Amino acid sequence: MTEETLTITSFADLSLAPEITRVIDEIGYETPSPIQARSIPPLLEGRDLLGQAQTGTGKTAAFALPLLSRLDLASRYPQVLVLTPTRELALQVAEAVQTYARHLKGFHVLPVYGGQNMGQQLRQLQRGVHVVVGTPGRIQDHLRRGTLKLDRLSCVVVDEADEMLKMGFIDDVEQILQHTPQERQTALFSATMPNEVLKIARRHLREPVEVRIKSKTSTVATISQRYWQVKGLGKLDALTRILEAEEIDAMIVFVRTKIATVELAEKLEARGFSSSALNGDMTQALREKAVERLKSGSLDIVVATDVAARGLDVQRISHVVNYDIPYDTESYIHRIGRTGRAGREGSAILFVAPRERRMLAAIEHATRQKIAPMKLPTRQDITERRVGLFKEQILSAMQGEDLAFFEELVDRCQQEYEVEPRRIAAAMAYLLQQDRPLLPEEETFAEVAPPSGPRFSGAGRGSGDEGLRRYRVEVGKVHGVVPGHIVGAIANEANISNRDIGQIKIFHDFTLVDLPENMPPAMFRHLQQVWVCGQRLQLCLDTGGDSSPHQGKPPKRRPAGKPGGGYKGKAAKKHPAAAKRASKKAHQP
Ligand code: AMP
Repeated sequence: MTEETLTITSFADLSLAPEITRVIDEIGYETPSPIQARSIPPLLEGRDLLGQAQTGTGKTAAFALPLLSRLDLASRYPQVLVLTPTRELALQVAEAVQTYARHLKGFHVLPVYGGQNMGQQLRQLQRGVHVVVGTPGRIQDHLRRGTLKLDRLSCVVVDEADEMLKMGFIDDVEQILQHTPQERQTALFSATMPNEVLKIARRHLREPVEVRIKSKTSTVATISQRYWQVKGLGKLDALTRILEAEEIDAMIVFVRTKIATVELAEKLEARGFSSSALNGDMTQALREKAVERLKSGSLDIVVATDVAARGLDVQRISHVVNYDIPYDTESYIHRIGRTGRAGREGSAILFVAPRERRMLAAIEHATRQKIAPMKLPTRQDITERRVGLFKEQILSAMQGEDLAFFEELVDRCQQEYEVEPRRIAAAMAYLLQQDRPLLPEEETFAEVAPPSGPRFSGAGRGSGDEGLRRYRVEVGKVHGVVPGHIVGAIANEANISNRDIGQIKIFHDFTLVDLPENMPPAMFRHLQQVWVCGQRLQLCLDTGGDSSPHQGKPPKRRPAGKPGGGYKGKAAKKHPAAAKRASKKAHQP
């Protein structure tokens, strides 16, 4: 491990504007990621920066937080320009900026990219914006037309410079830089540093601070590593299947935020798995208690942030799940080191979203190991496992319990109803498994369909178009939303191509948007959770009225947790109510 990544500062130590620190707290970021810890101080001082970092390292916040902290909100001219190679990235960055700036009064950010309505961009520019995020081509258009003035810029960020180079935008970038004030601050980020990128850096950056998150190679021998490419099915459903189908003693699940630790632990609990959050907001005593319970087996799953899990040494941990991908290879190595303790075998699973494939490659490089893709357990796998566990329970009851009373009961049934014992046993088994059926619900398994069936990718535009349906999302004009935010969020989060997003009508506090009608349920559920302009989308089918925004949700899975199925962890065998009571306490931050 490099020395830099060991130094953990807290956001409170970083001298960010109070409005920004407040958002960080609300979002639940626990500590700055390595790139943030090292980029924020120099950027706050106004220095130039050359950062080697890829998506997933937290680089957006690394530049957005300090630059937003230094804005002059009274001025209505663009002060910060972020150049991105693609419009998806422009939208994503604009949305992140909007979130981080949500307590800055009167703040405006404008995503600017080709294919978007020019008139609307112009109106927004005239109204005044503080941050412009755009692709080089469209920014050039505005410069040529004189509709965008960059003479009062204080800072330019070039994001993914190597991608700009690949896509042939690098000359545009240079030309745009020439339209900006000499004394501006410049930050350039790139996942790799080819010569051409370094040349640009040399020409346009002044004594830049260089930040590179080095990764030392290490080997992790006793741990089997797999990854699942997030696709079609939400991560929660994927995790549930893994919990159901694998031989698990105890598991640690890593997420990025404190809030996510609590939310995910609660969701797992609702699905019948005894789990607790482990995060830096919990008191030392509560954290220790959770760890003790994990050791003793009264708890099987902890959902933790990197910091909270530091130094955790529990031999029972058989599985580490990287629910959210780590920021860097070192934290990956730390995370998976929580399993395979004391010479035991451990299993590490990594969830990789399409945008995060680069991080996967970096991890493989750093660990000098290929990580094998995994297939999620199928309905049949889960049935087999549930049946196997059920049979084990029957066997152990036959061997270890006094069953005389029950044998008599069976005799009585047999005589009174004149049926074979087989039929009676079957009825009893049926009754026992009702709360958690041995045959899992079909519905949960219907959703693995890839998100791009023929209708899905070929749908036309407009509400009347075949294949589209009108949906409602709970973000509107009052929240400052523009169509780009919604397109961006949906395109990125649900992997729906821009072409498949139809008409968007923005109302006072909600928006109607036409989307493919055959959206898989998992994607639908995911889109309910996505945030835009500080609001949860809470996607639902539009029913015409605006008083019942939640119609159209697919039915909730019934909470499980009764005997008859589930996984092998000790706590699962406890009475569910008792397990629940105990772990509820540990959730409290
Ligand atoms: P980026 O590398 O900018 O694409 O960011 C990747 C993801 O990390 C985004 O979803 C951010 O919300 C999240 N993120 C960024 N910084 C932090 C942090 N300090 N703690 C937790 N999550 C973060």
